[in-house]
Amino acid sequence: MTDAVRLDAVSKVYGRGQGAVAALREVSVGIPRGTFTAVMGPSGSGKSTFLHCAAGLDVPSSGSVRLGGTDLAGMDENALTLLRRHRIGFVFQAFNLVSALTVTENITLPLELAGARVDRAWLDEVVHRVGLGGRTDHRPAQLSGGQQQRVAIARALVTRPEVVFGDEPTGALDTMTARDVLTLLKEAVYALGQTVVMVTHDPMAAAYAGTVLFLADGQIVDTMTAPTAEKVAERMTRLGAWKR
Ligand code: ADP
Repeated sequence: MTDAVRLDAVSKVYGRGQGAVAALREVSVGIPRGTFTAVMGPSGSGKSTFLHCAAGLDVPSSGSVRLGGTDLAGMDENALTLLRRHRIGFVFQAFNLVSALTVTENITLPLELAGARVDRAWLDEVVHRVGLGGRTDHRPAQLSGGQQQRVAIARALVTRPEVVFGDEPTGALDTMTARDVLTLLKEAVYALGQTVVMVTHDPMAAAYAGTVLFLADGQIVDTMTAPTAEKVAERMTRLGAWKR
Protein backbone atom coordinates (compact mmCIF):
# COMPACT_ATOMS: atom_id res chain seq x y z
CA MET A 1 0.00 0.00 0.00
CA THR A 2 1.25 3.48 -0.75
CA ASP A 3 1.38 6.05 1.99
CA ALA A 4 -0.74 9.19 1.73
CA VAL A 5 1.62 10.87 4.13
CA ARG A 6 4.93 9.71 5.52
CA LEU A 7 7.14 11.16 8.26
CA ASP A 8 10.78 10.08 8.56
CA ALA A 9 12.75 10.94 11.68
CA VAL A 10 10.75 14.13 12.17
CA SER A 11 11.86 16.23 15.11
CA LYS A 12 10.49 19.59 16.18
CA VAL A 13 12.22 21.74 18.73
CA TYR A 14 10.60 24.95 19.97
CA GLY A 15 12.84 27.65 21.37
CA ARG A 16 16.57 27.31 21.90
CA GLY A 17 19.20 26.85 24.57
CA GLN A 18 17.99 26.22 28.11
CA GLY A 19 14.35 26.83 27.20
CA ALA A 20 14.29 24.47 24.19
CA VAL A 21 11.37 22.00 24.11
CA ALA A 22 11.51 18.88 21.90
CA ALA A 23 7.85 18.53 20.91
CA LEU A 24 8.57 15.68 18.44
CA ARG A 25 11.56 13.37 18.63
CA GLU A 26 12.53 11.42 15.51
CA VAL A 27 9.01 10.36 14.65
CA SER A 28 8.76 7.96 11.70
CA VAL A 29 5.39 6.71 10.48
CA GLY A 30 3.54 6.09 7.24
CA ILE A 31 -0.20 6.60 6.92
CA PRO A 32 -1.52 4.32 4.16
CA ARG A 33 -4.05 5.69 1.66
CA GLY A 34 -7.69 5.09 2.44
CA THR A 35 -7.20 4.58 6.18
CA PHE A 36 -8.61 6.30 9.27
CA THR A 37 -5.94 7.05 11.88
CA ALA A 38 -6.43 8.61 15.30
CA VAL A 39 -3.54 10.28 17.12
CA MET A 40 -3.80 10.17 20.90
CA GLY A 41 -1.56 11.00 23.82
CA PRO A 42 -1.44 12.95 27.04
CA SER A 43 -1.61 16.73 26.96
CA GLY A 44 1.74 18.08 25.78
CA SER A 45 2.77 14.78 24.13
CA GLY A 46 3.11 16.42 20.71
CA LYS A 47 -0.22 15.66 19.02
CA SER A 48 -0.78 19.18 17.65
CA THR A 49 2.83 19.45 16.58
CA PHE A 50 2.55 16.10 14.79
CA LEU A 51 -0.58 17.25 12.96
CA HIS A 52 0.92 20.62 12.06
CA CYS A 53 4.13 19.08 10.71
CA ALA A 54 2.28 16.33 8.80
CA ALA A 55 -0.09 18.89 7.25
CA GLY A 56 2.53 21.41 6.20
CA LEU A 57 1.27 23.99 8.71
CA ASP A 58 4.59 23.90 10.54
CA VAL A 59 8.11 23.03 9.44
CA PRO A 60 10.04 20.27 11.27
CA SER A 61 13.43 21.09 12.78
CA SER A 62 14.78 17.96 11.09
CA GLY A 63 13.54 14.92 9.25
CA SER A 64 11.27 14.69 6.24
CA VAL A 65 7.54 14.83 5.55
CA ARG A 66 6.22 13.47 2.26
CA LEU A 67 2.68 13.99 1.02
CA GLY A 68 2.11 11.41 -1.69
CA GLY A 69 5.35 11.64 -3.62
CA THR A 70 6.08 15.22 -2.62
CA ASP A 71 8.80 16.10 -0.12
CA LEU A 72 7.69 19.17 1.84
CA ALA A 73 11.27 20.04 2.79
CA GLY A 74 12.48 23.19 1.14
CA MET A 75 9.00 24.34 0.07
CA ASP A 76 8.49 28.01 0.85
CA GLU A 77 5.36 29.39 2.54
CA ASN A 78 3.71 30.09 -0.83
CA ALA A 79 4.25 26.56 -2.07
CA LEU A 80 3.02 25.13 1.23
CA THR A 81 -0.10 27.28 1.08
CA LEU A 82 -0.88 25.97 -2.40
CA LEU A 83 -0.16 22.41 -1.32
CA ARG A 84 -2.52 22.73 1.65
CA ARG A 85 -5.20 24.33 -0.52
CA HIS A 86 -5.08 21.72 -3.28
CA ARG A 87 -4.08 18.52 -1.55
CA ILE A 88 -5.13 18.67 2.11
CA GLY A 89 -8.47 19.07 3.87
CA PHE A 90 -8.86 20.38 7.41
CA VAL A 91 -11.58 19.94 10.02
CA PHE A 92 -11.03 21.86 13.24
CA GLN A 93 -12.76 21.90 16.61
CA ALA A 94 -14.03 25.41 15.88
CA PHE A 95 -15.83 24.89 12.60
CA ASN A 96 -14.22 27.95 10.98
CA LEU A 97 -17.08 28.67 8.59
CA VAL A 98 -17.58 32.06 6.95
CA SER A 99 -20.75 33.45 8.52
CA ALA A 100 -21.75 35.61 5.55
CA LEU A 101 -21.66 32.69 3.11
CA THR A 102 -24.29 30.01 2.52
CA VAL A 103 -23.66 26.31 3.10
CA THR A 104 -22.88 25.75 -0.58
CA GLU A 105 -20.61 28.81 -0.72
CA ASN A 106 -18.72 27.64 2.37
CA ILE A 107 -18.26 24.17 0.93
CA THR A 108 -16.99 25.42 -2.42
CA LEU A 109 -14.77 28.14 -0.93
CA PRO A 110 -11.56 26.04 -1.18
CA LEU A 111 -12.27 25.45 -4.87
CA GLU A 112 -12.88 29.17 -5.39
CA LEU A 113 -9.61 30.00 -3.65
CA ALA A 114 -7.79 27.43 -5.73
CA GLY A 115 -9.40 28.72 -8.91
CA ALA A 116 -10.67 25.21 -9.54
CA ARG A 117 -13.86 24.21 -11.32
CA VAL A 118 -16.76 23.02 -9.17
CA ASP A 119 -17.64 19.45 -10.11
CA ARG A 120 -21.43 19.69 -9.63
CA ALA A 121 -22.02 15.94 -9.42
CA TRP A 122 -19.32 15.54 -6.78
CA LEU A 123 -20.55 18.57 -4.85
CA ASP A 124 -24.07 17.11 -4.83
CA GLU A 125 -22.77 13.76 -3.64
CA VAL A 126 -20.74 15.34 -0.84
CA VAL A 127 -23.67 17.53 0.27
CA HIS A 128 -25.95 14.51 0.20
CA ARG A 129 -23.48 12.33 2.11
CA VAL A 130 -23.07 14.82 4.91
CA GLY A 131 -26.85 15.15 5.13
CA LEU A 132 -27.15 18.82 4.24
CA GLY A 133 -29.39 18.32 1.22
CA GLY A 134 -32.19 20.66 2.31
CA ARG A 135 -29.96 23.33 3.80
CA THR A 136 -27.64 24.47 1.07
CA ASP A 137 -28.90 28.07 1.18
CA HIS A 138 -28.70 28.37 4.97
CA ARG A 139 -26.05 30.47 6.71
CA PRO A 140 -23.93 28.93 9.49
CA ALA A 141 -25.87 30.78 12.22
CA GLN A 142 -29.02 28.96 11.12
CA LEU A 143 -27.40 25.56 11.71
CA SER A 144 -26.69 23.48 14.83
CA GLY A 145 -23.11 22.75 15.86
CA GLY A 146 -23.29 19.28 14.37
CA GLN A 147 -24.62 20.64 11.09
CA GLN A 148 -21.87 23.26 11.01
CA GLN A 149 -19.26 20.56 11.44
CA ARG A 150 -20.91 18.64 8.58
CA VAL A 151 -20.40 21.73 6.40
CA ALA A 152 -16.74 21.80 7.45
CA ILE A 153 -16.38 18.11 6.57
CA ALA A 154 -18.02 18.65 3.19
CA ARG A 155 -15.64 21.59 2.61
CA ALA A 156 -12.72 19.30 3.46
CA LEU A 157 -13.92 16.54 1.12
CA VAL A 158 -14.91 18.63 -1.88
CA THR A 159 -11.38 19.09 -3.19
CA ARG A 160 -10.77 15.30 -3.01
CA PRO A 161 -7.67 15.93 -0.89
CA GLU A 162 -4.98 13.33 -0.38
CA VAL A 163 -5.48 13.59 3.38
CA VAL A 164 -8.11 15.13 5.64
CA PHE A 165 -6.60 16.23 8.95
CA GLY A 166 -8.91 16.64 11.93
CA ASP A 167 -7.88 18.53 15.05
CA GLU A 168 -10.32 17.49 17.80
CA PRO A 169 -13.14 17.62 15.23
CA THR A 170 -15.74 16.55 17.79
CA GLY A 171 -14.31 18.59 20.67
CA ALA A 172 -17.14 21.12 20.62
CA LEU A 173 -20.00 18.66 20.07
CA ASP A 174 -22.25 16.71 22.43
CA THR A 175 -21.83 12.93 22.49
CA MET A 176 -24.69 12.05 20.14
CA THR A 177 -23.68 14.66 17.57
CA ALA A 178 -20.03 13.65 17.90
CA ARG A 179 -20.99 10.07 17.02
CA ASP A 180 -22.79 11.25 13.87
CA VAL A 181 -19.77 13.29 12.79
CA LEU A 182 -17.37 10.41 13.48
CA THR A 183 -19.59 8.02 11.51
CA LEU A 184 -19.46 10.48 8.65
CA LEU A 185 -15.65 10.64 8.75
CA LYS A 186 -15.52 6.85 8.85
CA GLU A 187 -17.82 6.64 5.82
CA ALA A 188 -15.59 9.08 3.97
CA VAL A 189 -12.78 6.58 4.48
CA TYR A 190 -14.57 3.33 3.79
CA ALA A 191 -17.06 4.46 1.12
CA LEU A 192 -15.05 7.18 -0.63
CA GLY A 193 -11.48 5.96 -0.03
CA GLN A 194 -10.54 9.19 1.74
CA THR A 195 -7.51 9.18 4.06
CA VAL A 196 -8.29 10.74 7.45
CA VAL A 197 -5.89 11.55 10.29
CA MET A 198 -7.53 12.87 13.45
CA VAL A 199 -6.05 14.18 16.68
CA THR A 200 -8.30 13.55 19.65
CA HIS A 201 -8.14 13.10 23.40
CA ASP A 202 -11.43 11.16 23.44
CA PRO A 203 -11.17 7.32 23.48
CA MET A 204 -14.71 7.05 22.11
CA ALA A 205 -13.69 9.14 19.09
CA ALA A 206 -10.44 7.19 18.61
CA ALA A 207 -12.42 3.94 18.52
CA TYR A 208 -13.93 5.01 15.17
CA ALA A 209 -10.48 4.88 13.59
CA GLY A 210 -8.86 1.77 12.15
CA THR A 211 -5.52 2.55 13.77
CA VAL A 212 -4.58 4.59 16.81
CA LEU A 213 -1.11 6.06 17.23
CA PHE A 214 -0.15 6.85 20.82
CA LEU A 215 2.25 9.70 21.43
CA ALA A 216 4.15 10.29 24.66
CA ASP A 217 6.93 12.84 25.12
CA GLY A 218 7.15 13.49 21.39
CA GLN A 219 7.48 9.86 20.33
CA ILE A 220 5.10 7.21 19.01
CA VAL A 221 5.11 4.69 21.82
CA ASP A 222 2.36 2.37 20.63
CA THR A 223 0.06 1.55 17.71
CA MET A 224 -3.33 -0.11 18.12
CA THR A 225 -5.47 -1.60 15.35
CA ALA A 226 -9.17 -2.41 15.75
CA PRO A 227 -9.38 -0.11 18.79
CA THR A 228 -12.25 -0.01 21.23
CA ALA A 229 -12.94 2.91 23.56
CA GLU A 230 -12.14 0.68 26.54
CA LYS A 231 -8.79 -0.51 25.16
CA VAL A 232 -7.82 3.03 24.17
CA ALA A 233 -8.79 4.42 27.58
CA GLU A 234 -6.80 1.69 29.29
CA ARG A 235 -3.73 2.45 27.17
CA MET A 236 -4.07 6.16 27.93
CA THR A 237 -4.29 5.43 31.63
CA ARG A 238 -1.02 3.50 31.43
CA LEU A 239 0.52 6.53 29.70
CA GLY A 240 -0.52 8.53 32.72
CA ALA A 241 -2.79 10.69 30.62
CA TRP A 242 -5.38 11.31 33.32
CA LYS A 243 -3.11 11.57 36.34
CA ARG A 244 -3.45 14.82 38.21
P1 ADP B 1 -0.41 18.20 22.51
O1 ADP B 1 -1.12 18.61 21.28
O2 ADP B 1 -0.25 16.71 22.63
O3 ADP B 1 -1.00 18.79 23.76
P2 ADP B 1 1.70 19.95 21.58
O4 ADP B 1 2.14 19.44 20.26
O5 ADP B 1 0.78 21.11 21.60
O6 ADP B 1 1.09 18.73 22.44
O7 ADP B 1 2.98 20.35 22.44
C1 ADP B 1 4.09 19.49 22.64
C2 ADP B 1 5.13 20.22 23.48
O8 ADP B 1 5.67 21.31 22.75
C3 ADP B 1 4.58 20.79 24.77
O9 ADP B 1 5.59 20.68 25.76
C4 ADP B 1 4.33 22.23 24.42
O10 ADP B 1 4.41 23.05 25.56
C5 ADP B 1 5.43 22.53 23.43
N1 ADP B 1 5.04 23.54 22.43
C6 ADP B 1 4.05 23.43 21.52
N2 ADP B 1 3.98 24.53 20.74
C7 ADP B 1 4.95 25.36 21.19
C8 ADP B 1 5.40 26.67 20.79
N3 ADP B 1 4.83 27.33 19.77
N4 ADP B 1 6.42 27.22 21.48
C9 ADP B 1 7.00 26.54 22.51
N5 ADP B 1 6.64 25.33 22.92
C10 ADP B 1 5.62 24.73 22.27
